[in-house]
Amino acid sequence: MTILPNSLHARDVAYQFHPYTNARRHERIGPMVIDRGSGVYVYDDQGREYIEALAGLWSVAVGFGEQRLVDAATRQMARLPYYHTFSHKSHEPSIELAEKLVKMSPDGLDHVFFTNSGSEANDTVVKLAWYYNNALDRPQKKKFIARNGGYHGITVVAGSLTGLQVNQRGFDLPLPFVRHVTCPHHYRYAEAGESEEAFADRLAAELEATILAEGPDTVAAFIGEPVMGAGGVLVPPRTYWQKVQEVCRRYDVLVVADEVINGFGRLGTLFACETFDIKPDLLVVSKQITSSYQPLAAVLFSDAVYQAIADQTERLGNFGHGFTASGHPVATAVGLENLAIIEERGLVANAAKVGARLQAGLATFADHPLVGEVRGIGLIGAVELVADKATKAKFDPPGKVGLYLFERAQEHGLIVRAIADTIAFCPPLIITEAQIDEVLARFGRALDDTQ
Ligand code: PLP
Repeated sequence: MTILPNSLHARDVAYQFHPYTNARRHERIGPMVIDRGSGVYVYDDQGREYIEALAGLWSVAVGFGEQRLVDAATRQMARLPYYHTFSHKSHEPSIELAEKLVKMSPDGLDHVFFTNSGSEANDTVVKLAWYYNNALDRPQKKKFIARNGGYHGITVVAGSLTGLQVNQRGFDLPLPFVRHVTCPHHYRYAEAGESEEAFADRLAAELEATILAEGPDTVAAFIGEPVMGAGGVLVPPRTYWQKVQEVCRRYDVLVVADEVINGFGRLGTLFACETFDIKPDLLVVSKQITSSYQPLAAVLFSDAVYQAIADQTERLGNFGHGFTASGHPVATAVGLENLAIIEERGLVANAAKVGARLQAGLATFADHPLVGEVRGIGLIGAVELVADKATKAKFDPPGKVGLYLFERAQEHGLIVRAIADTIAFCPPLIITEAQIDEVLARFGRALDDTQ
């Protein structure tokens, strides 16, 4: 397209350096400027309509243009637009949301620390685990085990937990306190003839061997997304989490569930921990907590972790960690209203019901010559494209076909996410069955264009 001088497009290229963007390509093609949104739809500055089948970035549970969230933000802005939560200060929305999160989350999570982003929440997880082990006089117990393909954010620490090359190449990451173990994606990493169950056994054994090789007294925690999102929507074998937790408990390694994408209904359960029977020591949430109308994330953690840390604050004077906007009143007020909407409108049940239609619809693409695997659970799914169905060979170079399909989808009025050659779907939880059918139809047309 031609980029007119002084247009929004030209000024974007001139001034804004974008996350996750090839800067030179951006200079050539310019931005797609999204102007407004309503329900599951967004509209660009040319007035074109798109179904947002990734809910923004896996976030906008209640859809775009939800007036109740606008009103909640406006009320809080007028009453107390900002206050902090340092040094014993507090305010009502942060207190109410902390209580709400503890009451709605899986048993055994009793305390909440607020941050602005999922990355900051995972940095906080690392610092809580380190502080905890210092409190218990175990200064060596500091390493984290994460998984290849996992995504935990992009700050220096969270980006080290992340197991994706794109977040580490060029940044001198990961930091040396992290070990990555095998991604629990059966299609790619199982051995020939290995069942899901046997694959899960092998990965649990690998985790145990890693802990033993490092020395159990040096390993603080294991962190994982119950269902990986940014790595390509990877659903682990049913028994994987059970087995991994048993290993962690054996060596007094904390279990951290990163539910930044999974939390608040995405899998058709309120939390993925319910789906996989995970009993985490720490739980990370963000995104759907406010439908991303405001930046907010939280770390929930057990009383055992809290008690040790609280004692340490007495010894060290205070807990020297926190953000200017931790528990921001407008963000937490919006979070409360958003969670109320999720409950009142039965959006978790909707995700289960409509999600079944999404999964069934995606499954119909499995026979397509370009499709290697179709996968998903609840309202999150993916279609992985391959160069050769029989050998599962990836395209060379990776990502080119995925990008091509992604662009065709946009031409058909559908926004998805291309993760290399995997196309991800994660629509707002309010989506209807008819709208799912439309997502599938538009995707089908884009896939046809890609043959
Ligand atoms: N953890 C998971 C599972 C995520 O998917 C993300 C973001 O997509 C993050 C952490 C990082 O969150 P943020 O982008 O808010 O820093």
